[in-house]
Amino acid sequence: MKIPLLDLRGQYQQIKGEIKAAVNSVLESGQYILGEQVEKLEKEIASYCGVDYAVGVASGTDALLLSLKALEIKPGDEVILPTFTFFATAGVISHLGAIPAFVDIDPISYNIAPEKIKEKITDQTRAIIPVHLFGQPAEMDKIMETAADYNLKVVEDACQAIGAKYQGIQVGNFGNAAALSFFPSKNLGAYGDGGMVLTNDKLLAEKIKRLRLHGGERKYYHQEIGYNSRLDAIQAAILRVKLEYLTEWTDNRQRVAVTYNSAFKENKLDGMVSLPAKKIRDSTHVFHQYVIRTGDRDRLKLFLEKNGVSTGIYYPLPLHLQKCFKGLGYQEGELPVAEKICKQVLALPIDPGLNDEEISYIVKLFASKMR
Ligand SMILES: *Cc1c(COP(=O)(O)O)cnc(C)c1O
Repeated sequence: MKIPLLDLRGQYQQIKGEIKAAVNSVLESGQYILGEQVEKLEKEIASYCGVDYAVGVASGTDALLLSLKALEIKPGDEVILPTFTFFATAGVISHLGAIPAFVDIDPISYNIAPEKIKEKITDQTRAIIPVHLFGQPAEMDKIMETAADYNLKVVEDACQAIGAKYQGIQVGNFGNAAALSFFPSKNLGAYGDGGMVLTNDKLLAEKIKRLRLHGGERKYYHQEIGYNSRLDAIQAAILRVKLEYLTEWTDNRQRVAVTYNSAFKENKLDGMVSLPAKKIRDSTHVFHQYVIRTGDRDRLKLFLEKNGVSTGIYYPLPLHLQKCFKGLGYQEGELPVAEKICKQVLALPIDPGLNDEEISYIVKLFASKMR
C-alpha cells in the first residue's frame, strides 16, 4: 500500500468542476487582484470564524507581518513567541527590526507554555504571538491575562487552526488580530499563496487594508509606508468554493484522528507512542497535522517509508537554535521541552479522505516494528 503524507490531487478531483467554473468566471471578469471575489471571501471567512473583519493578504506570513506593523511593533521591541513553530512566526518579527523572544512549550499541547511567558517579559516587550500549533488552540485565557497585566498586544498565529475553538470560542477572537494562511496544504488551501488577517477592531482592519496597498487609502496618495500584499481574485474564487467544504473536511480530519487513536490503543501501543492529547476541556482540535511522539522516531520513519507510508517532521529544530538566530545568544538546553520534542515528533498522513483500512495498515506497521 502507498500512502502519501498529503496528496492534494484527490481533493481537486472531488471539486474540479466547481473550481474550473470559479476560475473561469474570474478570467472572464477582468478583475484579477482584490475586487468582488476577495470582498466576498472576506465576508464569508469573517462569518465562518465569527469575527467582525477579515482582510485578504498575499500569505499567512504577510498576515502576521501586517498585523505586527499595524500594531506599531518597531525596531528594538521584543515579541514573545513559542520556539516550536513554523519559521514565519519568528521571521516577521525580525523583518520589522524587532527581537523574537522564544519561550518553551507545553509537553502535552506543544503550544507555548503560558506559565513561562512572564520570565521573558522585559521593558521592551510589546507583543505575544501564540501559535495554535497543528490545529489545537493555545491556552488563550492565561495568555490574555498575562497580556493584560503587562499591556501587551496579541497576534494569534491561526495559520494551522482555522475553525478551531477554545472554550467554545473560535480562534481569532482572542488577540488584537489573528493570521490565517491559505498555503495549499493548510486546512483551507488555495492553489497558490494567500492569507488573511482576522480582527474585531475596525481601525486595525482599515489600517491593514492600507498596508496591503502600499499604505494608501486611495491610489497614489500614501499616508504610511506599506507593502504590496494583496490576495488575488482567482485564489479568492477558489477559496470560496473550498470554504463550502471546510466543515466536512475538518470533521473528516477529526474522524481520522479518532480512528488513529483507537487503532494505537487496540494495538496496545499507546504506552510507547504519545498520541495527540487535548490540553483544554471545551476546546477543539482541527488536526492540521496528526503528530505523535516516539523515542525511536528516525528508525520508525525510515521503516514506514520503506513500506510505502510517507511521514513528516514538524519541526526538526526549534527556532532558538536556528543558525540565523545565533546572534540572539540562546544556548542548547535553554528551552529543553521543545529541544527534546523536536527529536520525537512524527506527523502521520491526515488526508481527510484516508480510510480505516489505510489507518489500520499504518498502525500495524508501528506494531510490527515496536513489539
Ligand atoms: C503556514 C504557516 C505560516 C505561514 O503561512 P504562509 O501562507 O506559508 O506564508 C505561519 N505560521 C504557521 C504556524 C504556519 O503553519
